Amino acid sequence: MAEKIGFKTEVNKLLDIVINSLYSEKYIFLRELISNSSDAIDKLKYWKLINPELKIENTQYKITITPNKDDNTLTISDNGIGMDKDDLVNHIGTIAKSGTAEFLNNTKENASAVDLIGKFGVGFYSAFMVAQKVEIVTKKANSNEAYLWISDGIDGYEIKNTSKEGYGTSIKLYLKEDAKDFVDTIYLRNIIHTYSEHIDYPIVLNLGDAGEETVNTNEALWTRNKADITEKQYRDFYQHVTKNFDDPLVTLHFKAEGSLEYSGLLFVPTKAPYDLFQPDRITGLKLYVNKVFVSDKVEGLMPVYLRFLRGVIDSPDLPLNISREMLQQSALIAKIRQGTVSRIIKELKNLAKEEEKYNTFWKAFGIAFKEGIYEDFTNRENVAELSRFYSTKSIDTLTSLDKYIENKKDKNKEIYYITGDDIKTLNSNPQLDVFKENDIEVLLLNDPIDEFWTQTLTSYKGYELKHISQAKLDLSIKREGIKADENKLNKLLDNMQEWFKEEVSKVEATEKLASSPASLTVLEGQMSIHLERLMRNHQQKTNFDSSRILQINPYHPLIVKLTSLIEENDKTEVVKNVSMLILEQAKIAEGEAVSNPQLFNEKLSEFILKAI
Ligand code: ADP
Repeated sequence: MAEKIGFKTEVNKLLDIVINSLYSEKYIFLRELISNSSDAIDKLKYWKLINPELKIENTQYKITITPNKDDNTLTISDNGIGMDKDDLVNHIGTIAKSGTAEFLNNTKENASAVDLIGKFGVGFYSAFMVAQKVEIVTKKANSNEAYLWISDGIDGYEIKNTSKEGYGTSIKLYLKEDAKDFVDTIYLRNIIHTYSEHIDYPIVLNLGDAGEETVNTNEALWTRNKADITEKQYRDFYQHVTKNFDDPLVTLHFKAEGSLEYSGLLFVPTKAPYDLFQPDRITGLKLYVNKVFVSDKVEGLMPVYLRFLRGVIDSPDLPLNISREMLQQSALIAKIRQGTVSRIIKELKNLAKEEEKYNTFWKAFGIAFKEGIYEDFTNRENVAELSRFYSTKSIDTLTSLDKYIENKKDKNKEIYYITGDDIKTLNSNPQLDVFKENDIEVLLLNDPIDEFWTQTLTSYKGYELKHISQAKLDLSIKREGIKADENKLNKLLDNMQEWFKEEVSKVEATEKLASSPASLTVLEGQMSIHLERLMRNHQQKTNFDSSRILQINPYHPLIVKLTSLIEENDKTEVVKNVSMLILEQAKIAEGEAVSNPQLFNEKLSEFILKAI
């Protein structure tokens, strides 16, 4: 009985992109299908190990590629786990990966296949780059039902019952007119060599009457000697595990010996993956036990802040006969994690010696990496040392805490920072005037995450980290202009305090502002304005905090002028409106929105008109 099923919307969209983009690297489909077959064999191998009672007969695992020049088809078969009907519907007919559907819905008409593969690996659907029709024959291990899945990639698919010897999956591609090269054995051999050399199972080219030929060397790359591995082999393997097309930024291949033996082949990619900040952030490492793939979702194998790492960890000493959940909790996993994290940190410290490369790393992964400052107690100081920042003295190039300390001229054992949304706004914050005037560097922290690690890392190498609003520094600014009259100034401050009592807890004069009439800060020990804003944006806080202080610069001509008008009764309205503009300006300088844009605009226009 045949059943016709339509594709889900996102599948249609994806197929549309895959089929219609003029993508020159069509051979990628072969890599993707071989990689799926290899995953299917991995799954079967593991499944057999944890279910020994099922007595599935042993076969030699392999992936067979059969070109047929007579009918222009290419068949990729494996004796892996196979699929049942649910698998066909749920895995082949749907795109399960989080983010893909969203990406496809947001993407413009002309998204390229490269982008797509780069982000998600279009996997199975890449078959339609070269095929006008695809037939899958598959039988799940330990089942008697085999299925035939047929699709032209346009009108949905059909599923029928069929029969099949043995289990596994066989995918037959009816090649398009412009893809007939893929029946050429020389060409195929070449592609397999280039893109699938590192696959753990034999990839066999079926040459018909001429017999079979194994194309790859099929030896797990990470088990081999470093000295015998070429850079190209590392790169191919990296591209296989990441589905990226670039080169790895860092390759770390190691073997740990001693009471617990394990090896690792890890990569730091050059670009951040699309899901670096998705809530279900998991490790990107594949765990093997003595070359048997266990899972790529082993929690605790890597700390979350290192989730950008890709690659493989393999240990012969881990138990295979326990569930993934139990394995996750085993002390052995924790030990592997600790050892591996130390190696990565060491490697990153090495990378940091090459500034340009390190900046690439930092720009791609810095935000995630900084989470380590509060997540990884043991390595907190290391992560801080490896972190990079912009500062008032380093606006265009990144600096570090060590450099900050090294360049420090004053004797204060303090490191100053300010938090906000973007570097430019931060750098023009009037609160920085006095620091700049006195040649004191201030770190400009503009990631939301900075609000959190600064709460945990209160000191670094003996220097206390301090938000500038908490700095107890006796600094001043050299003055030339005239200062507002003390009595009148107090009267102005009292009035402002009354007018703005809903918005600020205090209005005070300060000696620390240079060129702005006013600026906002907070009471000592209170949440920074930026953190308050973050929380408000996440609906955790609806009111302005009452701990805000509006600081007034008594040397600013505008303030001097206002104080001179304060005692004239008929000028009260003007003074009030100008004060309102001053408060709103102080908010803008903080990166805040004005509270009453309509009134603000109206009054601003009114004053401008008077001036011109
Ligand atoms: P991905 O491999 O990245 O998950 P694909 O679109 O390539 O995405 O494949 C979707 C799913 O279909 C796989 O996760 C797997 O469950 C199933 N699948 C694909 N090819 C095979 C195969 N040869 N044998 C068994 N299952 C397969």
